Amino acid sequence: MSTAENLQAVRERVTAAATRAGRNPQHVALMAVCKTVPVGLIREAYDAGQRLFGENRVQEFAEKWPDLRALPEAEFHMIGHLQSNKAGKAAELFTAIDSLDSLKLAEKLNAAAEKTSRCLAVLIEINFGDEQAKSGLPPDSPELQQILGAAARLRHLQIRGLMTIPPFTDDPEGARPYFRRLRQLREQIERQNPPNVSMQVLSMGMSHDFEVAIEEGSTCVRIGTAIFGERPKP
Ligand SMILES: *Cc1c(COP(=O)(O)O)cnc(C)c1O
Repeated sequence: MSTAENLQAVRERVTAAATRAGRNPQHVALMAVCKTVPVGLIREAYDAGQRLFGENRVQEFAEKWPDLRALPEAEFHMIGHLQSNKAGKAAELFTAIDSLDSLKLAEKLNAAAEKTSRCLAVLIEINFGDEQAKSGLPPDSPELQQILGAAARLRHLQIRGLMTIPPFTDDPEGARPYFRRLRQLREQIERQNPPNVSMQVLSMGMSHDFEVAIEEGSTCVRIGTAIFGERPKP
């Protein structure tokens, strides 16, 4: 199947899952995750109407950027672990950072965005106890509260919601409790109502579990394999 056909099939599954859950399919954004994917295939997805993309490494994206910057309306979000020494470069290249996971990184991104008089959209990444994952904050971490508290002062960041990658389970149903917990955490933060923080976005669900994520309230699914095929093993 071509990238365009895969994309169409995924769009139909997103619509079907949203409809089954009694939700408006337009409230679920589809992000095409194009890490390791060559520029030619990214363009194919773009030509098939895709506008929202996710990359997980600054260096890889910097190499593709000369070929991609000419695509009008394309949005590229950073979704992988970001070291704070790469914050400047990331703030320059990406439309948004969906993997904010430390106060230090928030400070660096804010400073970088300030230099270019931008306002950078970010999501806070939550880690529900996957020991192997090197990114994300535990839902009960004091640092999460520190970031929310600092938001009023970090005027060049716009916190827009939460992101998570649940611990891997073969059965997509295994991810459901984590998706639910992310939604509950969002509600809890909404009740806290910290200044300069919005909780519009819940970025959750990947190729093997996005339908479950949509049932649990995802507003953005991040799909790589089901659109671009299997990636080479690292
Ligand atoms: C790679 C990746 C995805 C996409 O994973 P697939 O299983 O290929 O759909 C989604 N989110 C993040 C953060 C990723 O790194």
